[in-house]
Amino acid sequence: GRYTKEDIIRMVEEEGVEFIRLQFTDMFGQLKNVAITSSQLDKALSNKCMFDGSSIDGFVRIEESDMYLIPDYETFEVFPWRPQQGKVARVICDIYRPNQEPFEGDPRYILRRAIEDAAKDGYTFNVGPECEFFLFHTDDDGQPTTISHERAGYFDLGPIDLGENTRRDMVLSLEDMGFEIEASHHEVAPAQHEIDFKYEEAMHAADNIMTFKLTVKTIAKRHGMYATFMPKPKYGIAGSGMHINMSLFKDGKNIFENQSDELGLSKEAYYFIGGLIKHIKGMTAITNPLVNSYKRLVPGFEAPNHIAWSSVNRSPLIRIPASRGASTRVELRCPDPAANPYLCLAVCLEAGLDGIRNKIEPPAPVNENVYEMSDEELERRGIEYLPENLLLAVRELEKDEFIKGVLGSHISQKYITAKKTEWMEYREQVTKWEVDEYLYKY
Ligand code: GLN
Ligand code: MG
Ligand code: MG
Ligand code: MG
Repeated sequence: GRYTKEDIIRMVEEEGVEFIRLQFTDMFGQLKNVAITSSQLDKALSNKCMFDGSSIDGFVRIEESDMYLIPDYETFEVFPWRPQQGKVARVICDIYRPNQEPFEGDPRYILRRAIEDAAKDGYTFNVGPECEFFLFHTDDDGQPTTISHERAGYFDLGPIDLGENTRRDMVLSLEDMGFEIEASHHEVAPAQHEIDFKYEEAMHAADNIMTFKLTVKTIAKRHGMYATFMPKPKYGIAGSGMHINMSLFKDGKNIFENQSDELGLSKEAYYFIGGLIKHIKGMTAITNPLVNSYKRLVPGFEAPNHIAWSSVNRSPLIRIPASRGASTRVELRCPDPAANPYLCLAVCLEAGLDGIRNKIEPPAPVNENVYEMSDEELERRGIEYLPENLLLAVRELEKDEFIKGVLGSHISQKYITAKKTEWMEYREQVTKWEVDEYLYKY
């Protein structure tokens, strides 16, 4: 391991840390924490910290609400954005029941279970996410808006790019917390940015995504801006994706690579794609969890809406980026940054493993622009659509016993119920578009 209990206690003393946040993530991808002072650290690191799980969305009923927070020492980190005095640190926790069993409603447990399943075949799952987000202004009361005065586009640089200073500060803070930032750039839409960090083993990658979002939001606030990971905050411009780059390693070697293959891909890589394609409809409610997620998955904004893969084209659901060797990888382009990263990576991994274990051949790659194909052509080639809204996605999840099994019955039941409720609430709304479109005409 990276740290022992004694290491952490010593670091907290040396750095003058006063508060430690015991963090975990709920089913809906919200970061939660219980803060303790350093006087309680020994107790917390000895797995004696309890909390009331009944008040966390989707966790448990009141009568079974005692939960233990078990700190994962590897994840200890001092936040770089506090003043020298009264520093704040965090440690990410697993959630256990009082009977010492992992709590099946803990998304981190669901991912751990998938990782252990892959390890049975000697696989390590490596993941590099690409998180996009918007930087907007706040109003006079400090409330977030969707307003931005900047007009920069893809790869533009300052002084047009008003967010550049903020983004630079984000990158430096992330580096302070041990991230290896590969690149950051202005994205296609005005006020939209992307920061890419190096791939890591899946649990580390999912923890990183949570830390990334917290950091981006915190630093934006310090610059008087608001950062949002909402998938499609504005009509008519690109939404924010969280493309997931995936590879499997065995004995330290990337097994997706095969130099003698036409595309440089191994059998395992093809089967992995086959598994993703087989399960993608059932996975979409996890990779794209909000009513709003489906407003991103429309033609014209580099987000997928068909189920297809390609090594040359950028628009499809699954792309094979050009780099080979150790960075040979499969890029899934539908996920958005509202997804719970633990659940998202768990279903991606298991879908891919299902492909490998059952030798699921992927369909032929589609190298033409799917958006320009007629419905007849799509049908002839067997190219299907991704679920087009949250309700359809939830119904697909209900049908996919395999994906429900990956999530476990606790999470799949609670998730499906919650997402149906979310859809019903949305469905009752009378939107501005409808009033504009129908009030006068009818
Ligand atoms: N914003 C696009 C999406 O929604 C991706 C754009 C890009 O990275 N090329 O996925
Ligand atoms: Mg990118
Ligand atoms: Mg991008
Ligand atoms: Mg990408």
